[in-house]
Amino acid sequence: VADCLFCRIVAGEIPATLVRRTERTVAFRDIAPQAPTHVLVVPRAHHENAASLAAADPGLLAELVLDGAAVAAAEGIDGPGYRLVLNTGPESGQTVFHVHLHVLGGTALGHFGAPTGPAAG
Ligand code: 5GP
Ligand code: ZN
Repeated sequence: VADCLFCRIVAGEIPATLVRRTERTVAFRDIAPQAPTHVLVVPRAHHENAASLAAADPGLLAELVLDGAAVAAAEGIDGPGYRLVLNTGPESGQTVFHVHLHVLGGTALGHFGAPTGPAAG
């Protein structure tokens, strides 16, 4: 998809720090890391979110999870643990509508789910 940021990273049109490449996936460091390890795993093919990817190609969604585990092992955080996140839709914080699996770790992570914004006071 021409105007998709992550399609352009996959195509090499926008630079990124790649940490893993497979036939069908690419993993690269998040430009604004939220944890000591913060890597994004994306399919080379454009799918909007996790559910549409699961519907179109469930095996590819499984590949993203396995790549996330491989990245965590390479980063040395598979022992202590890590978090996999698939934001879906604007209120979740999804800003890039090419599915991407966040791999977060390297420190003790707060419990998920804290709302931000007006409702949080
Ligand atoms: P989302 O908020 O959609 O779940 O995640 C998008 C992520 O992409 C954000 O964590 C953001 O920091 C990251 N990001 C946005 N633009 C770029 C970029 O140009 N390069 C890289 N490596 N990450 C980006
Ligand atoms: Zn795309």
